[in-house]
Amino acid sequence: MSYLLSVLLLVAVLLLLAAAWRYIHLKRFVNKLAANVREQADQRQPLEFTEVPELMMPLYTAFKALLRQLPSSIGRDTLTGLPNRAMLKKALTPLMPITQGSLVLINIEKFRFVNDLFGFSTGDKVLQAFSLRLRQLEHQPRFLARMDGDEFLLFYEQEVTSEALHEMQQLVQQPYVIDNAPIGVKTKIGCLQLAKDHADISLMLRRVDLALKKAGKNHQLLAIYETGDDTVNLREMKIINSLPKALNRNQLYLVYQPKESIETGQCLQVEALIRWDHSELGFISPAEFIPLAECAGMQGLVSDWVMENAMAQISRWHTQGIHLRVAVNLSSSDFEKDIVAIIASKLKAHNIPASSLAVELTEGTLVADMLDTRDKLRQLREMGIEVAIDDFGTGHSSLAYLKDLPVDEIKIDKAFLQDLLTDVSALHIMRSTIQLAHQLGFRVTVEGVETKAQREALRKLGADVIQGQFYANPMRAAELEYHGLNLHLFSNVEGRDLTH
Ligand code: C2E
Ligand code: CA
Ligand code: CA
Repeated sequence: MSYLLSVLLLVAVLLLLAAAWRYIHLKRFVNKLAANVREQADQRQPLEFTEVPELMMPLYTAFKALLRQLPSSIGRDTLTGLPNRAMLKKALTPLMPITQGSLVLINIEKFRFVNDLFGFSTGDKVLQAFSLRLRQLEHQPRFLARMDGDEFLLFYEQEVTSEALHEMQQLVQQPYVIDNAPIGVKTKIGCLQLAKDHADISLMLRRVDLALKKAGKNHQLLAIYETGDDTVNLREMKIINSLPKALNRNQLYLVYQPKESIETGQCLQVEALIRWDHSELGFISPAEFIPLAECAGMQGLVSDWVMENAMAQISRWHTQGIHLRVAVNLSSSDFEKDIVAIIASKLKAHNIPASSLAVELTEGTLVADMLDTRDKLRQLREMGIEVAIDDFGTGHSSLAYLKDLPVDEIKIDKAFLQDLLTDVSALHIMRSTIQLAHQLGFRVTVEGVETKAQREALRKLGADVIQGQFYANPMRAAELEYHGLNLHLFSNVEGRDLTH
C-alpha cells in the first residue's frame, strides 16, 4: 500500500515538474513573442522563431499575421514607410529634455492641386519620391517622420542654419519625374532651434508648426520660430479653439445691414454680418476670425451657422409679414462642397422661398475653381437666389473677366470711395466701372457710403444701390424691426414684397 502511495506521489511530482517545465518553456516563448512585437513597433527586423512549441503554433501563426499589419497601425506610414507622428513622439521621449538641435517641418504647398490635376495615384508617387529625397539628404537628420498628408518633420541633433534649410528646400523642390512627366512642388519650411526651455514634446511640435504658419503668413519660403511668436498666436489659438463651442452655444449673433436703392430710397435687401462677443477676449471682428476659421478649416461651420440663423430669421420675418431678401457672405471653402444642395435643403427646412436669399462671394472665391463655382452659381440663380460679387476691385478680376458670370450684382469696395470727392481720376474710375457693369447687365452697389455728398455723387454716376453708415449701420433683427419705419424699410410691410 505504502509502495503504491510512493509510486503515485512520484508520478504526481513528475507530472508537476513536467507542467512546470512546460509552463517555463511557454512563458519564455510568450516573452520572446512580446519582445518581437515591441521590436516590430520600433521598426527593427522581426525575429524568426526556429522552434515553436506545437501547442503554441496556432497562437504563433495568428501573431505573425498580426505583426504584418503592425507597422502601419503602430508607428509607420504605409505610403512612404516613414515613422508617423505617434512614433516620432515615442522616439523623442527618451531624449527629453532636448536642449540643442533643430526641428524642421516641411510642408508641400497646395498639394491638393497635385491630386486634383494628376490624380491620387500620381500624388502618392510624388509623396513617395519626396520622402525618398528627404531620406537621401546629405545631412541626415536623427529622425525623419511624415506628420500629416503633406508635412514632414526632421529632427537634427545639431543646429541647422538658414543656408542649410534653403539648400534642403532647393533640393526637394527639384521637379519630380512621375510616369515620364515632370511635376514641380513648392514647399514652406518652419524651423525651431531647440534650447533648454523645450522640455515638452507637444510644445516643441506646436512651436515648429507656428514657425511654418509664420512662413505662410509672411509669404516667406522659410521661417524660424522666435520667442514671443507664441503670445501673438495665443490669441489666434484661443479664437480657433473656442469657435466651435461658441457656435454651438450661440455666443455669436447676426446683425443686418440694409442696402438702399438710390432710385426709390427704400431698403432693397439686408446683408447678414456675423458678430462675436467672446467671453474672455471681448468683441472679435469677423475681419479677424473669419480668415482664421478659413485657415483652420472651420469656415464650413461658420457658414453653416450663418445660413441656418439667417434663414430662421427670414422665416420669423415672414410670419410677421416682412418679406426682405437677406444676403449671406460665403467663402471659397463653401464652394468646395455641394453648396447648392445644402442651401436647397435649408430653404426647405425653414419653409422659405429662394427669392428671400442672396449670396455674396469675393473675387478670390470665384478664381479658386472657376468652372465649378460658375456652375454652382448658375444653379443658385436658377433657383431664384441672387448672386453678388463682394469687395469688387480689390482682387484680380476685371469686369471683362466677369462678363459671362452668372451674377446679379457687383459690390464696389469701399476703398474706391476714399478719394471720390477730391480726386478726378477716382471719379473717372468709378464712372467707367459703373457704366461697364451696367453694359454687362449687373446691378451696382457701392459699399461703405458714409456721407450725403458721397451718396449724391454716386447717384449722379448712376450707381443703383448704396450700403453704409449713411443709410444704416448693421443692427440686430429686433433693432431693424424697431427702426424699420423710420428708415422707410417697412413702409410696405403690409403685404408688399420687398424681395426683388
Ligand atoms: P464685407 O462683406 O465687405 O462687409 C462689409 C463690412 O463693412 C462690414 O464689416 C460692415 O460692418 C462694414 N461697414 C458697413 N458700413 C460701413 C461704413 O459706412 N463704413 C465703413 N468703413 N465700413 C462699413 P464687418 O461686419 O466687420 O465685416 C467685415 C468682413 O468680415 C465682411 O466684409 C466679410 O468679408 C466678413 N464677414 C462678416 N460676416 C460674415 C459672415 O457671416 N460670413 C463670412 N464668410 N464673412 C463675413
Ligand atoms: Ca459682404
Ligand atoms: Ca464687401
